[in-house]
Amino acid sequence: MHDSPLLISSLIRHAARVFGDQELVTRSVEGPIHRTNYRELHVRAQQLAGALIALGVQPGDRVATLAWNTSRHVEVYFAVSGIGAVCHTLNPRLAPEQLCYILNHAGDVLLFVDLSFVPHLARLGPNCPALRKVIVLSDRAHLPADPDLLAYEDLLAEHPQSFAWPSFDENTASSLCYTSGTTGEPKGVLYSHRSTLLHSFAIALPDLFNLGEHETVLPVVPMFHVNAWGIPYAAAMTGTRLVLPGPKLDGESVYQLLEDERVTMTAGVPTVWMMLLNYMQQHGKRFSTLKRVIVGGSAAPEAMIRTFQDQYGVELRHAWGMTETSPLGTFCSLTPAMKQWPTDEQVAVQRKQGRPAFGVELRIVDDAGTVLPETGEVSGDLQIRGPWVCSAYYKQEGESPTHHPQGWFSTGDVATLDPAGFMQITDRSKDVIKSGGEWISSITLENLAMGHPAVAEAAVIGVAHPRWFERPLLVIVLRPGAELEPTELIDHVAAQVPRWWRPDAVVFVDALPHTATGKVSKLLLRQQLKDYKLPDEPQGTGDAA
Ligand code: AMP
Repeated sequence: MHDSPLLISSLIRHAARVFGDQELVTRSVEGPIHRTNYRELHVRAQQLAGALIALGVQPGDRVATLAWNTSRHVEVYFAVSGIGAVCHTLNPRLAPEQLCYILNHAGDVLLFVDLSFVPHLARLGPNCPALRKVIVLSDRAHLPADPDLLAYEDLLAEHPQSFAWPSFDENTASSLCYTSGTTGEPKGVLYSHRSTLLHSFAIALPDLFNLGEHETVLPVVPMFHVNAWGIPYAAAMTGTRLVLPGPKLDGESVYQLLEDERVTMTAGVPTVWMMLLNYMQQHGKRFSTLKRVIVGGSAAPEAMIRTFQDQYGVELRHAWGMTETSPLGTFCSLTPAMKQWPTDEQVAVQRKQGRPAFGVELRIVDDAGTVLPETGEVSGDLQIRGPWVCSAYYKQEGESPTHHPQGWFSTGDVATLDPAGFMQITDRSKDVIKSGGEWISSITLENLAMGHPAVAEAAVIGVAHPRWFERPLLVIVLRPGAELEPTELIDHVAAQVPRWWRPDAVVFVDALPHTATGKVSKLLLRQQLKDYKLPDEPQGTGDAA
């Protein structure tokens, strides 16, 4: 067979030639709905490719984006990777210091930024010496008066509408995403052209996202969260119509777009669906075209599965993955036999994270690394391997504790595997909290709490929350004789972290459980506090998130 490389540029070239008229609809950052198609998108990606070369971007250089889901952002994806540079999506929800750390660690040379994030620049630009230019994803009329800012539309207009996409090794890096480190700083995961294309083939399959010209897909999942789960690439591969929500992710805005644009499938984290369902219930709304909703990033709650399916006739498909796995690992679609089962039994399966996509393998191991049986009863550390699972973190030399010989990657999730191949997450061994789809570092909060003179020992765990799914709880052992108001401690911690990291409550205990090596046992602590309910109002003076 001919050994042609799997390259991202081939996706957009194919989409333009074969699905040229297929639409991409954006709720723009400026406000109005914007319509384009794959043919135009390809032309503009070629203009941008020319512009990148003119700005001195070399193969392998990192080019950052700080942007919502829009067709301009899709153009940047294809142009940057297409010339052999690396498209680095930054998460605007991170604190400025973290963004600076990540920009500098990646050595980004250009930054494409949406109008909404222009105010962030004052704290980024001066601290990021490698950054040569900032381009605002808009036209000149919308730009603030600042001679250092370049308007995206001006940049495009200066360059020809055709560009000869270069050919290179398919293992070349194409994009970069940082994930929160459980200890220390965030870590970068580099995707390759090959991994991205193989992942696209996988997610397009019928039992997974079922993409194609027949589908209109609205990714609520941001393009800065593992490349919107790979949807922009797989949509171009299959000619899927894309509806991009821009900055408005509240229930009403998402509902409006789902209806106005006759969306058939949508994907995002549970918090987004909770906001959508609340809006619909409060206003007595129904879906007229939506068939499927993909839920990932956090566990899909049973009530959500039932509400979508029983009240709205929309199938909920539960998926699991990670930044390190591109992200798709497992997908929960019922077998034909299961679809004949009573509803309760079907829902019990749908609560599981599902079966591995073709291309990845899963196993569970104990603390000694021994592979555990797939009975559906025994829990172990979940490991995964496959061609779109990362083999090391960006710039991290030497052996990593999460990467093993034979390609196994330790996920930090604790799970069961059943004889039918379904995986279910039962706990987490990594020390982080996932609130509304975003990570909060327990260790940072613990260190800050320990900095209070009344605190002898501190642990932070995630506890269930109806809207954010998990919120941080401080568990504190006080120094002998010390007294402390919960509010005082929360305010002390919150003063030094992003607003939404603020712990919701404090529990004072006499002692914390420890492992044999003297570390706080979070698994035991979570078990001890499994019946703990957060107060209705967060303690302290701020909002929950
Ligand atoms: P991220 O790298 O930010 O995408 O986060 C990946 C982590 O999110 C996984 O290792 C899990 O801990 C969690 N996660 C993702 N999807 C699910 C899911 N469907 N159910 C439970 N946890 C999930």
